[in-house]
Amino acid sequence: MERTHKTGKVWLVGAGPGDAGLLTLKGAQVLAQAETVVYDRLVGDGVLAMMPSQARLIDVGKEGGHHPVPQEEINRILLREAKEGRRVVRLKGGDPFVFGRGGEELELLAEEGIPFEVVPGITSAVAVPAYNGIPVTHRDFASTLHIITGHSKEEAAPPVHFRALVEGGGTLVFLMGVTALPKIAAGLIDGGMDPQMPAAILERGTTARQRRIVAPLEELPARAREAGIRPPSVIVVGRVCSLEKTFHWAEDRPLAGARVALTRPRELQSAAASRLRELGAEVLELPAIETFLLPDDASLREAMDRLDRYSWLVLTSPSGVRHLFEELGRMRRDVRSFHGMKIAAIGAATARELEARGLLADLVPARYSGDQLGRELAAAMAPGERALLLRAQEPSPDLPLRLKEAGAEFDDIPLYRTIPLQGTGSLLAARLEKGELDYVTFTSASTVEAFVQMAGEAPLDGFTALCIGEKTQEAAGRHGMKTVRSQEATIHSLVDKLVQVHQEKIHSN
Ligand code: SAH
Repeated sequence: MERTHKTGKVWLVGAGPGDAGLLTLKGAQVLAQAETVVYDRLVGDGVLAMMPSQARLIDVGKEGGHHPVPQEEINRILLREAKEGRRVVRLKGGDPFVFGRGGEELELLAEEGIPFEVVPGITSAVAVPAYNGIPVTHRDFASTLHIITGHSKEEAAPPVHFRALVEGGGTLVFLMGVTALPKIAAGLIDGGMDPQMPAAILERGTTARQRRIVAPLEELPARAREAGIRPPSVIVVGRVCSLEKTFHWAEDRPLAGARVALTRPRELQSAAASRLRELGAEVLELPAIETFLLPDDASLREAMDRLDRYSWLVLTSPSGVRHLFEELGRMRRDVRSFHGMKIAAIGAATARELEARGLLADLVPARYSGDQLGRELAAAMAPGERALLLRAQEPSPDLPLRLKEAGAEFDDIPLYRTIPLQGTGSLLAARLEKGELDYVTFTSASTVEAFVQMAGEAPLDGFTALCIGEKTQEAAGRHGMKTVRSQEATIHSLVDKLVQVHQEKIHSN
């Protein structure tokens, strides 16, 4: 293979503390090009969902009963992948050089002359306090900042010089300190710190499940124990902790705490994702279905060659529009081919996709459904007119059924195929099993089916399915999901519905 002659390269990339929006632009660019991704436990699911589906994905941070892969083994994996000539991204939580062993991972690469780059990340030491309304420095309170590891081997002398830290008088941030919290508090107090010093422990910061306990230093260990605080958590000690009362913000957003999975073709979902994130939701983008133009299909080719036979062009999904233009391009033709035709689109998103290509839909039914489209189209068609339906390979029967009933003439031609994507399936299943998903959006019955396939054996009753369209809702209901439906067939309306449902849920708790 040619590949073996190419030298690989390793990018050591900081993924940030959890919130996918805190991955840097450079990190995202490098990740999109990766051929191998080596990642561990602290990388947020939102970032994991961005891993390219064709890349080789290597998990070196298994949780629970599994031991994490030893450091030397990780080093060897990076070397092996790079030597195969691959573009390797080593994804690490936070910043790779802040208690991330980034240095150790580069040593072997440097020795072997493998090219590498470091893409810094946003460290939890700063970002987690920020998401909890705690500025790590403030001119009135702290002019130094120490980032300290709270992890020490049981018997060994404490690696931390508590007295010196106390004398410094600045903000102290401890990472990996949950188990050692009692020792840390005692050490600081022994070192001369005021037992009433404001302190905080911040769990799973920047994610939808972030929690914080703020208390005087001497009370913090007991309070953390009562609340069952677990790693990963950041401990902050210093007067800045008192600012949280004024500066908290993350949990005040309308969708704070909502963990939402989006199932749509990957290219179509980013607008919805950014709206949801803006409102404070934690978004998992699941490319539940991938659509493909059917390779050189005879019936499609024939229909496209004889467009003059048709008065109406009917499109039932944004993907359909995209694949139609792909086909057109393949035939070396352009939008003028539709000259004189009227166009029907099933909903607003499909109409927008058309408009982006210079075509305005003549008919968009009042309600997003094949049934409604069929009725309205049949009513709009003059005698002798013929419609061309360009749809997915296994389409729903409602539209042709209505047209037939009304005696309308049409051809129903498969344009593209949708297939469930397995790549992020395991991520999804894990979340479902742990009950770590609150909402899943569905825009078509086929996305429901694809989602169910991806979920495998995982339970489907732990979240609320937010659906666009009745058929979609029916499909979700058939699989035992709790469902709600948006007022209108738009992402906007779906988001409004989600905010409403989530607010109701918060207030009922
Ligand atoms: N390189 C990472 C730190 C790795 S050490 C960084 O720059 O953030 C692992 C420790 O980081 C955890 O024990 C915890 O103290 C902290 N941490 C990482 N992500 C966190 C999160 N989302 N919330 C709270 N603490 C986090």
